[in-house]
Amino acid sequence: MILTESKPVEEIIERLGNEKNIFFLGCGGCPEGAETGGVKVLEEMKGTLEEKGFTVTGIINVDFICQKALVRSRLKPRKSEVDAADSLLIFSCGLGVQAASEVVDKICHPALNTNTFGGITGIWQGKERCDTCGNCILDKTGGICPYTACPKLLENGACAGQSKDKCETDPDRDCGWVLIYNNLKRIGKLEVLEEFIAPRDYRKTLPTEKLRSSRLWAYDEEAAE
Ligand code: SF4
Ligand code: SF4
Repeated sequence: MILTESKPVEEIIERLGNEKNIFFLGCGGCPEGAETGGVKVLEEMKGTLEEKGFTVTGIINVDFICQKALVRSRLKPRKSEVDAADSLLIFSCGLGVQAASEVVDKICHPALNTNTFGGITGIWQGKERCDTCGNCILDKTGGICPYTACPKLLENGACAGQSKDKCETDPDRDCGWVLIYNNLKRIGKLEVLEEFIAPRDYRKTLPTEKLRSSRLWAYDEEAAE
């Protein structure tokens, strides 16, 4: 199971900034098991944000949001609530945030950090990849992970090596930073690129002591054996 931890509320509020109308998209897969998702968690966050002056335009919990077709079909009847939102808050691992970012035309803020893929992962056949960095920054990179889309793990733009939008390390591979630029352009949010992204803190790659001492961690370790 993919193990995630909730981002601090203060960080989520900072990331939302002036976006006051938010649609919640939750994953009913791994986050429910890790107790970082599910209806109860989403309702609690709704209450917290509303106290801070935000409006939650809608909430939906979808089984396995890493399945883009499923997300697309479940969001279709909720179009007006998504349209009314400035952005989405996603309760899922990095794979789910990447999948949602491809389906919708708004910024998708991660509400969770992905710590580890654990022993057994869900069924997932997409092209998305997560490096379990423990500090998801996908809302700053157009929903594309710079740690997996760029072999040099660049956080603040492309190197000078790409040719015809392909990566200098492999002419058959799209440049991750071209993909980031194109997705932000598609949703009209190129200004996101003006924000500096701090260097990765590799200490966060190690799941917290609290998570490693949890029953869930012990079960997952056992399943991996
Ligand atoms: S930024 Fe990338 S590696 Fe880090 S949690 Fe998000 S998807 Fe995973
Ligand atoms: S060409 Fe693009 S994907 Fe390749 S290393 Fe440079 S920035 Fe990263």
